[in-house]
Amino acid sequence: MIRKVIGGSIAAVVGLVIACAAGAFLLFGAGGGAAACTTAWPSGAPAMSAPAGGWRPVGRFDAQQVGFAATITGVGAQRGVPIRGWIIAVAVALQESDLRNLPGGPDDSIGLFQQRPSQGWGAPEQLRDPVYAAGKFYDRLLTVANWQQMTLTDAAQQVQHSAFPDAYAKHEPDATLLVSTVAGLVDPSGALVLNCGAAGPWTQPVIAPIVSGFRTADRPTHNGVDLGAARGTPIKAAAAGVVTVVRCNIVPASHGCDVDGSPATPGCGWYVDIGHAGGVVTRYCHMLTRPAVNEGQSVAVGQIIGIVGSSGHSSGPHLHFEVHLGDHSSSSATDPVPYMAAHCAPLGERPPSVSSC
Ligand SMILES: [Zn+2]
Repeated sequence: MIRKVIGGSIAAVVGLVIACAAGAFLLFGAGGGAAACTTAWPSGAPAMSAPAGGWRPVGRFDAQQVGFAATITGVGAQRGVPIRGWIIAVAVALQESDLRNLPGGPDDSIGLFQQRPSQGWGAPEQLRDPVYAAGKFYDRLLTVANWQQMTLTDAAQQVQHSAFPDAYAKHEPDATLLVSTVAGLVDPSGALVLNCGAAGPWTQPVIAPIVSGFRTADRPTHNGVDLGAARGTPIKAAAAGVVTVVRCNIVPASHGCDVDGSPATPGCGWYVDIGHAGGVVTRYCHMLTRPAVNEGQSVAVGQIIGIVGSSGHSSGPHLHFEVHLGDHSSSSATDPVPYMAAHCAPLGERPPSVSSC
């Protein structure tokens, strides 16, 4: 399959992979990740090619799945699709087929993207060809106006018309990981350098009512706001950055964070800190399960980092959200409500229009 994307000897392929990784780091290493995501892959850059010995497993994905991710990414690169499009395509294939070239599916769906001959996607034998299937996906994606400014879910839904569009978003971290790996977009430490989130620089971590405020008279040491989102709601990174803390914090520690806490168990529960440009830190507490990110990982704005729960010092499911200016300490916390409003991502159940931002 990879040979359909790129030909050449093994020696040439290995050389290309190394050149690709080095070039990618130069391209992204100067903090220009978000901008680079919206521009086409540099002309003349190699398509994604398997290293000598073939693709190796990545995370939960076996070599065959990684190979399909490389095919999808390679087709996108060859067509000059910006990197954000590769991530959307891989996320859709994860949702539709778990990155498997399925011979069939519901109705007359076929292949990696579960495209349907009856819906004009192509003949069955064409849709079983991952290169063709990926090309058709990109053909339609590129006809969607402003797709690069959309969330992954909205862009994917414009192409796929799925009955379950919300399911796409949860694959964004894995799709980012896979694209970064096959495209060699990692820095010398192995950390991902992709930063291909949607739209503006800041977004709401959840859309939910503010149920408790910052340092109120009743709770003068409450260094964040409580957002009353339901258990299981995805939590998004408020801005691009690097995950600096992933931890279970509860007293007594023996209580653990995989079960609900209570007002009698101090601590943030499962929580994440993200460091952003300018020394800003955001904190997300009381997650239901171990967060979906790891320390040292780069995250895009809007990337899902975990889900709402009630671990730690919590009387019921909600997201406790903090913003710190300069460091992680309590004294550096600032009221997230005005801060987020000033960054065009106002908190609340029905945030006011941000069109004036
Ligand atoms: Zn709180």
